[in-house]
This record gives sequence, C-alpha cells and structure tokens, in this order.
Amino acid sequence: MARTKYIFVLGGVASSLGKGIISSSLAKLLQSRGFSVTIQKLDPYINVDPGTLNPYEHGECYVTEDGAETDLDLGHYERFSNVPTSQANNVTTGRIYQTVIEKERRGDYLGHTVQVIPHITDEIKRRIKLLGKTGKYDFVITEIGGTVGDIESLPYIEAVRQLRWEMGRDCSVIHLTLVPYLAAAGELKTKPTQHSVKTLLESGVQPDIIVCRTEKHLSDGLKNKIAKFCNVEPSSVIESIDAKSIYEVPILMRKENLDTEVLRKTMMPLDSQPNLDNWNDFLYKLSHPTTEVNIALVGKYVELKDAYKSISESFVHAGAANECKVNVKMIHAEKINDKTAPELLKGFDGVLVAPGFGERGIEGKISAIKYVRENKIPFLGICLGMQCAVIEFARHKLGYKSAHSTEMNPDTKYPVIDLMEEQKKIKGMGGTMRLGAYPCKVKKSSKAFECYKTINVSERHRHRYEFNNEYLDEFENAGMKATGINPKENLVEIVELDDHPWFIGVQFHPEYRSTVAKPHPVFVNFVKATIEYHKRK
Ligand code: GLN
Repeated sequence: MARTKYIFVLGGVASSLGKGIISSSLAKLLQSRGFSVTIQKLDPYINVDPGTLNPYEHGECYVTEDGAETDLDLGHYERFSNVPTSQANNVTTGRIYQTVIEKERRGDYLGHTVQVIPHITDEIKRRIKLLGKTGKYDFVITEIGGTVGDIESLPYIEAVRQLRWEMGRDCSVIHLTLVPYLAAAGELKTKPTQHSVKTLLESGVQPDIIVCRTEKHLSDGLKNKIAKFCNVEPSSVIESIDAKSIYEVPILMRKENLDTEVLRKTMMPLDSQPNLDNWNDFLYKLSHPTTEVNIALVGKYVELKDAYKSISESFVHAGAANECKVNVKMIHAEKINDKTAPELLKGFDGVLVAPGFGERGIEGKISAIKYVRENKIPFLGICLGMQCAVIEFARHKLGYKSAHSTEMNPDTKYPVIDLMEEQKKIKGMGGTMRLGAYPCKVKKSSKAFECYKTINVSERHRHRYEFNNEYLDEFENAGMKATGINPKENLVEIVELDDHPWFIGVQFHPEYRSTVAKPHPVFVNFVKATIEYHKRK
C-alpha cells in the first residue's frame, strides 16, 4: 500500500457548519473509488472523553465497539462509511494532557520543562499518525473540533502546520467556512471566509481546499473571488449548499469534485471511477416512500435534536429499508402520566422509550409503556427504556407496586433493576460503565430472532444497571420473556412480551450499529411492525 495520506478538516466563521458530514461524505467518496479510509475527531475540550458530559453540552455520546465514549460525529463516520471506529478515532485535549502529564510523572521527559510546543503538539501528532501507522488506511481524515481562531484550538492548528511541513503532499488541508446570504443586500458575502483564511494563515496554515457552506449557489465569479483572496485554485473552492438530507451531501460533493480535488492535491491516482450505486439506491428509497408512519420518541431532551442522534438516524435507515417515511416526534417524558398518555400518544404507530440516566421523566416513561402494552402498540425500549418496561411490568402485572430500579430508589422493596455486581465497587464516573460490544445469545422462536435471523449477535452497551435475575422466573411465568442473554455473565439483554404484536426491550444500544449499508435489524423490524399496526388501525 502507498503511504497513508492525511486530510485535515478545519472549520471557520461559525461552528455547526457540518465538518462531520463533510468529512464523512469525503470518506464515502474515497471509499467508493476503492480507497480505505478512516476518520478521526480531535476535540479541543478538557474532558478526557464526552462520557461525563450531559447531552445539553454536545448532544449524544456515541459508543464504539471497543467501548470508547465518543463525540457524536463518530456516529456519522460509521453510518456513512460502515467502518467501525475506536478509541483512537476520538481524542480530546483532556486525553492529550493526561498522557503528557502521566509521562512527566513517570520521569519520561528526563528533567526537561514540559511545554505546549513541542510536548503537547508532539502528542497530538502521535495520535494523528497512530491510525495511519496501522497500515490499514489509504486516507486518515482528521476533523478538528471548534472553529479556527479559538484559543483552545491553537495547539491542534500548530500540529497541523508542523505535519504539513513534514509530510508535504501526503497531507492536505480542507477549510470549511460559511458564505452567508444577506437578504437586505441580496448578496452572498465572501468576507467572513477571507477573514477566516487570514486567521489560519496567522498560524502558518494555508488551506488547499475551501468548502463553502451556503444557502444559495455560488457563481463562478464568487468562487474566483474566494480563490484569489485565499490563495487557492478556483477548482478548489467547493460549494456546499444546504441539502434536504445529510445523506445527499456525498452526491453534492461528488458533483463539486471534492474527492478528485483531494486526490489531485495528495498526488493519488485519478483513474478510479466512484461506485455509488448502493448509496444512490438508498437515496432513491429515502425520497420515494410508499407508506408513512408516525413514531413517538419518549425522552427528556425534546428540545435537543442531537440528544438522540443515532436513534433518529437509525429510523432514517430503517425507513428507507421499508420504503417508508418515518416521522419521529419527540414527546417529553415529564408530560406523560396515566391520564395524559392516551391523549399524548394518540395517533402514533409505535413508541420508542429512550435511553437515559437519573430520576427525571422516569414515571412518564413508565406510563407511556403501560399505555402501549395495554393497547398493543408496537414498542421498542432501549437501555433505560428497557429497564422502564421491566419496572412497569413488575408494578402492573406482577403486582409489585413499589418495584423500581435501585438507580432511582436504592431502598425499593422490589429492585427488579439493580446495579451490576461488577459496578458495586466502582467509585469514579468517567469510563466506568459497562461499555462497548458484548455478545448476546438470541433465543429461537422469539421476535428478536425474527429480527436477527441468527442466535449469536454482538451489541454495544452503556449502562451500570441490569435486570435482576432473582425475578426472572416470575417475569417469564407472567409473560415477559428474556429472549437475549449474555452467555458469559447470564445478563438479560433482551425482553419481550408474549401476548403483544411487537414489544421489545433491549439493554444494549442497537442505534450505534445502524448504518446506511446495514440498517439495524431491530429498527427495520420495529418500523415494519409500525407499518402493520398502521394498516390494521
Ligand atoms: N441509567 C441506566 C443504567 O445505567 C440506563 C443507561 C442508558 O440508558 N444508557 O443502567
């Protein structure tokens, strides 16, 4: 394999321009030409990982196969590229400093003063090159979080400057900026982009390619103007117009030649033809649904669209697989109780109760589950959602009125959900949950088996509490069956109801494994069940 090429994606002018989607789209395009690609995110905040962050800060925490708690952009990387990421794909300033400080404490720096340059920047560079050194990738795309000009981004930009100098054409820099449209002037404005590039130049980095996020098409004149002011070729000014769906962005980037520009800049062969047939097929299904269903997502971060990112994207994949438009509506768990449930959940073809932590919204989730269980509405409970289904069943079917999880009530008389044995001695919060992929054995003749069509599956986890096996017989005798079990530790991973058309609770997070190429079978079957329910109504 030729030397690995390193592509950096830096953002300017404003945050939230979609660096993750541009990086993922570029990865998809390079992949479609036969190159192997991985994407990495460097986050300039001091937390060692986003695992302890509340979703209000950076949205959902995404979990990789190897159990890393990471930025939600890694979810996009996997959904677009269908290649699993790992701890090495997400590095924060906190982790960089932790490594450097541990080395200093061990005496590895032999009495030298430890400084941002070279020690922090060297550690950043080492982390960037780590993925390339595996020899598995033609391209490593590194997305740098934050916006050019932020104080906390400086060591990363400096690392990029040094790597460019060291690697020459094995390295290329993409700068994603905003070209705003001023309605009053009726014009697109290039000045913020010019300023952003100037800021980058102050740090010694000249971008090779400028991707301009815009609401309106950029004329050739405007592209030429940006090229002239920012020292890039006109063909390297790429328009990134607002798209209806993030999944259209690879196609838009293909039209704008983002992939060939990157290949040209890094002296890679240009003779390959991109094969985007499967991707286009998915887009076709996405935009030509033959049915439509409404699904309620019961959670406590209704105002935050990124809090349940992987779940909403899994519905997009599963919707396309079923040629169905899935409308997901967030319902605030705190608004639901036994009285309001019929009104709030009226008209939905299925209900998903979301993962989560802590007391807030719990009773609403339980009321929602009671309603869908009794009314035979398709239900999927994920992690805390599954635990709530177990509590609801204990309270209303087993008659244990005060049943609870010891997470919410440590003194409950009926701890149907309890802290896992291995969790009892753990004190610290960061990275200490049951995290990452674990095997699960699916019982034949279950709805779960109908989804997976195999008995050995592996799914990703992020939790501390589990189904309390002391109650298992009682649950099974009353009609809630454990249909997925962790073979080694005997933990209940899937529960489902006998006398219900589609009621599944999973202790793991299927949403982390759903991709465009491989929609998750649990979501695909859940959507199918909602379509059937809709037809029956
Ligand atoms: N709070 C629950 C636990 O720790 C569920 C976690 C989750 O939904 N991810 O077990």
